[in-house]
Amino acid sequence: MPKYSREEFPANSIVYERTCPYCARDFWANKPRAVYCSAKCRVYANKRKREAQAAGTAEHKPLNPVDERGNPGPALVGEGSRMRLDYHNPFDEEIRKIDPHADFELKHEAGIVVQSEESLASYYTLRLKGCMYYNKAVRYLLLEDQINNFRQLTPPQKRFLASEEFRVDAEISRLNRLLRQITR
Ligand SMILES: [Zn+2]
Repeated sequence: MPKYSREEFPANSIVYERTCPYCARDFWANKPRAVYCSAKCRVYANKRKREAQAAGTAEHKPLNPVDERGNPGPALVGEGSRMRLDYHNPFDEEIRKIDPHADFELKHEAGIVVQSEESLASYYTLRLKGCMYYNKAVRYLLLEDQINNFRQLTPPQKRFLASEEFRVDAEISRLNRLLRQITR
């Protein structure tokens, strides 16, 4: 299994230094043919490959901007720890309407305010939709990079997007679990 530090292999062992083409992290492997840093990156890269193929075979079909309402597609702005996705998420506004102080979840978890099952379900459904929308924007940029032979994004941008993709996927699973509990 690849590792992120040379020290995790015995000092005298033969290892190969690589950069993961998906998440752009440097890693060490004891097999010369290792490509990805982890099984997770391999799975995600294959998913993107299939999506890229599907997009490439669709004739004259421009890459779908995430937003159907004419807002510009997502773009990365900022550098380092201040890197972020510039895009328009329609669910953000709806969430702000029912949760103007961004403390709904906190209150729910702490049991300070007992919300009805209906309001819990509609709040977490919106959060889920917002996450899925963000996820779509992230995947759109990764897909564009893949279609352009991985030359569109810089390594820090790839690292950022891959980690965002993993983070949001975990959040989507968490929200789905929560919703199942609420509506059970
Ligand atoms: Zn990786």
